[in-house]
Amino acid sequence: MKKLKKIVVKVGTNVLTDENGDLDKKAIYSISNQIIEIKKRYNCKVILVSSGAVGSGKAVFTLKNVKNKTLQRQVYSAIGQVKLMNLYSSYFEEQGMFCAQVLTSREDFLSQAHYKNMSKCFNGLLRDDIIPVVNENDVVSLEELMFTDNDELAGLTAFMINADALIILSDIDGFYNGNPSDPNSSVIKHVKLSDKSEKYVQSAKSTGGRGGMKSKLQIAKRCAEKGIITVMANGKKENILLDIYAGTFHGTTFSEK
Ligand code: ADP
Repeated sequence: MKKLKKIVVKVGTNVLTDENGDLDKKAIYSISNQIIEIKKRYNCKVILVSSGAVGSGKAVFTLKNVKNKTLQRQVYSAIGQVKLMNLYSSYFEEQGMFCAQVLTSREDFLSQAHYKNMSKCFNGLLRDDIIPVVNENDVVSLEELMFTDNDELAGLTAFMINADALIILSDIDGFYNGNPSDPNSSVIKHVKLSDKSEKYVQSAKSTGGRGGMKSKLQIAKRCAEKGIITVMANGKKENILLDIYAGTFHGTTFSEK
């Protein structure tokens, strides 16, 4: 995997939060450090798509007497996005690197003018080795027009920058050929476009996230069609990004053939 020069790394809610649903600073620190390390070792460009804003907001502020779920999401993400970025920027800057916040919505990918504009911004940031930290703009996004989840956002970003790979870090070791909690199931090492893998998806929705494994598989297949490989691995494992680059990781790779 050493040849991956431009990658999108998507880190899921379950990786970034602890068992109580609170933001796990150690996990954020570890992901940031690993990104710095792979950039140093392999001279690659990295875009990070990070969940965790709503959880960060909830950790510091409790909305009282608000039942409207949309308003809750807006307020918590507005507060939490700042907290999340503060952590990323302090960790990256400690190591002499800059990150930048990119908040986007599905509409930005649909209008040609916005698409071009955003693409220019990503390329501008990557040119100077700044790490874009991307998330959906939950504060202004209309419920009915939102991305299925951050996996979809990460996939669309990978297409936009013509990435070599999309790396999806979740709380699971990879894509299983059955229920992950069943001892008879195991991680499939390699999935090709023609494989009928949909039958292995256990449930449509995830617990913490929105789209679950169904959406991850769809994105991985769409990436494969465009010649972008997808790696799915466990983001809770120490040094997982380094292991992916070294080719020693335990997880699933999706590609065209
Ligand atoms: P994240 O929040 O990190 O994006 P999700 O919860 O959306 O992750 O998706 C990962 C979950 O998908 C796993 O925890 C697992 O319970 C579920 N899942 C369903 N089918 C499979 C499968 N075939 N292989 C692995 N995980 C699966």
